[in-house]
Amino acid sequence: MKKNKFVTLFFLPAAFWGVNWVHANEAQNSAPAAASSVTSAAASNEDPLSKALVNKISQGSGDIVIRTSDLPASPTSENKAPETKPKVSKVASSKPVEKAEHEVHWSYIDGPGGPENWGSLDKANMACTNGKTQSPININLDRALKVELPPLEFLYRPSPLTIVDNGHTVMVKYGEGSNLLVDGRQYRLVQFHFHKPSEEAINGERTDMVAHLVHQHYDGSLAVVAVLMSAKPAGGLKKSWFGDEVSRGNGLIATLWNNIPLVKERIDTPGVMVDVNQLLPVDKGYFTYMGSLTTPPCSENVLWFVMKNPIYVSESQVKNFDRLYPMNARPLQPKGDRVIKGTVAN
Ligand SMILES: [Zn+2]
Repeated sequence: MKKNKFVTLFFLPAAFWGVNWVHANEAQNSAPAAASSVTSAAASNEDPLSKALVNKISQGSGDIVIRTSDLPASPTSENKAPETKPKVSKVASSKPVEKAEHEVHWSYIDGPGGPENWGSLDKANMACTNGKTQSPININLDRALKVELPPLEFLYRPSPLTIVDNGHTVMVKYGEGSNLLVDGRQYRLVQFHFHKPSEEAINGERTDMVAHLVHQHYDGSLAVVAVLMSAKPAGGLKKSWFGDEVSRGNGLIATLWNNIPLVKERIDTPGVMVDVNQLLPVDKGYFTYMGSLTTPPCSENVLWFVMKNPIYVSESQVKNFDRLYPMNARPLQPKGDRVIKGTVAN
């Protein structure tokens, strides 16, 4: 034994490692229920205590005290610890890393855990393969109905920031009291998160990023507002006029990126307030259609509102997200015979 330094590990229930993960993005209870942190040090994988630790972890034991020398080699995140794959370094790669063969985890990268196989990873994910109203979709402007639609009323107020990097995206859990009111129905804002590039396409084009604002009605049904994010100034606006705003970026995004936790899956509450109104475009025109969660389990009957107008972010803000998640967008899904409606106005 090289060292006898003790490390305390706070672990999550076993369920978190598997089941809860699949609800990572759009679903309501997406963020983990407890914080966790792992400190690892170089050690021998053959050490039987290491194996014992792995077993404990897998079983979701509570607080565990172990020697650093008993831990698996290489820096790993806690969700990888049980597999002890020393060659894969979390630091070197920002892409989602597959779990061992017996427990393939979903990812955006082609392969066993890739989008084509989400439906077969777990019975709960069947809709990913068999669903007929999946998201995201391309919105063809010529085919969308242009009609009178009820306005989206964003009754949002500031919330203390609660932020987590859940391994699939950066997610903000939003405090109580912020609601979306549409057509007499009230949906509570639960969380929002980001994709790069945008999952939604308009006339076949995706924007730099998208924010998904996930809401839930008290009857359980979900409504997601997609706000496209662009680092390019709007057409027709002179760069010199728009340049400052674009280069400065979005104030809320700046606050969020400043507070991205240093450790994946750790929920941070850095003691700052955020106002999600800053993610909304001025003009509130939208497209609407029925779709699904865009991450496993791909549950359907999700009411989507895709804002027609993007918000503007800086290139460096996009670049910073790219450093964490260069590609976390599900491929476009068949529209099928669904109807897409859009507001007449912007
Ligand atoms: Zn999303």
